Amino acid sequence: MPLPTRLPGQVDDPDIKATYAADQSIAAPPVGDFTLVRARDLADVVEVLTEAQAHGTPIVPQGARSGRAGGAVAIEGGIVLNVMGLAGVIDLDEVEGIAVCGPGTVTADLKAAAAGQGLFYPPDPASVAYCSVGGNVATNAGGLCCVKYGVTADHVRGLQVVLAGGEVVRTGRRTAKGVAGLDLTGLFVGSEGTLGVVTEVVVALQPAPAAALTALATFDSLDAASRGIVALRRDPHRPSMAELLDAFSIAAVQRLGDYGFPADCAAVLLVQSDRAGHTTQDVQRYAELLAAAGATEVAVADDAAEAEALMAGRRVVSTALEGYGARMVEDVCVPVRRLTELIERCRAVCRTRGVEVAFSGHAGDGNLHPSLFFDAADPVSRERAEAAFGDIVDLALAMGGTITGEHGVGSLKAPWLVRELGESEIRRQQRVKAVFDPAGILNPGRVYPP
Ligand SMILES: Cc1cc2nc3c(=O)[nH]c(=O)nc-3n(C[C@H](O)[C@H](O)[C@H](O)COP(=O)(O)OP(=O)(O)OC[C@H]3O[C@@H](n4cnc5c(N)ncnc54)[C@H](O)[C@@H]3O)c2cc1C
Repeated sequence: MPLPTRLPGQVDDPDIKATYAADQSIAAPPVGDFTLVRARDLADVVEVLTEAQAHGTPIVPQGARSGRAGGAVAIEGGIVLNVMGLAGVIDLDEVEGIAVCGPGTVTADLKAAAAGQGLFYPPDPASVAYCSVGGNVATNAGGLCCVKYGVTADHVRGLQVVLAGGEVVRTGRRTAKGVAGLDLTGLFVGSEGTLGVVTEVVVALQPAPAAALTALATFDSLDAASRGIVALRRDPHRPSMAELLDAFSIAAVQRLGDYGFPADCAAVLLVQSDRAGHTTQDVQRYAELLAAAGATEVAVADDAAEAEALMAGRRVVSTALEGYGARMVEDVCVPVRRLTELIERCRAVCRTRGVEVAFSGHAGDGNLHPSLFFDAADPVSRERAEAAFGDIVDLALAMGGTITGEHGVGSLKAPWLVRELGESEIRRQQRVKAVFDPAGILNPGRVYPP
């Protein structure tokens, strides 16, 4: 049924609407029309969700559209409800160790606000400069620091959420402890816009760590780099970062500029320690572990500028790989001990399918992002990449891993959810969804296949 009223914050300009139709995945935007609302405040969100429920109109909650899983892509005839207008840090309590912010706050801005008070908000997705805190909550985003600090869920204390129909609910707490009732905050984190629209986030902050010391280990095989990761995981003091780039990714980054990565190697591991008073000893120990695992060289960044350049290089991997054409970005996660096997089997799959692949990712967590390249103008090439994408997801499951480490299920991986969870578990989860969204208007078809 069409919406009878004009919605608050509605935008009709077709050029603007086109820029809100898709995210950073290969999921195609709709062919037909949709309604775009750029909410300015809580009242806008409430009104849109009230109208949508009354008319059975699908809602796509949307943040910064950096998602990789197709969860923020417009649905034909539906409403894209973008909440980037609800931005800013509303409260920062250094005694309680919390910050309260709007969902449209850019993650880097929240980190900077915490740092301004000598505090630390750990989540650090590679998209930190433009993704939103609300999107991070909705996808339970990971990133570069998870090997030591965990994922977004580990840092969210409470939420304000608007449910389908317009009811505003609060979950969780502001206090350091609290065990009253079920953990609905945990349920909403990672629900990818299928349960409600997050309109406020309470995050826990930590004391600021030491300035990180960075080391770059060079390997002549991905195998040896994977052995290095396993050795690091056994260390009693986890690195605050352990990122992998293969030769393809290194060459792509160095083509953009000199970020300090070596040529003529199979892979590098970028490793950091931020443990106050111990960064030098930690990095020295990591260097010994990595050398024993087969690193041909471990170089410690001499100064902040060198470390910054390496970090900047890590953050531009995605942009650098875009220079090689269309690609599908995988996000599987396997037990860390099986990384080598995952890489070898991915390579075999790509060889068989005739697909070029580059490896990078948060190897310290067993979370890899193989990039599968294809020719966007050639349907056969695309089909081959899609087949390899599916094979790799199947591989991860067969190896005791998961179909998505951090990007989410969205629309792209919805067909695989049943293989990870099983049909009865999906039905149970759909019943939970129905408690919050009885009419099924919130991101329909995403996460749970239609
Ligand atoms: C170059 C690049 C690097 C990346 N690196 C990482 C990384 O290291 N780690 C990682 O985890 N991800 C990474 N991502 C993926 C992406 O940045 C994250 O998934 C991020 O959390 C998405 O935030 P967003 O604001 O862009 O959300 P969007 O893309 O707009 O939305 C993502 C999902 O969240 C839902 N959603 C958004 N806002 C809300 C809200 N307020 N309420 C309810 N639901 C909402 C949407 O419906 C959708 O399902 C990367 C992406 C790119 C392009």
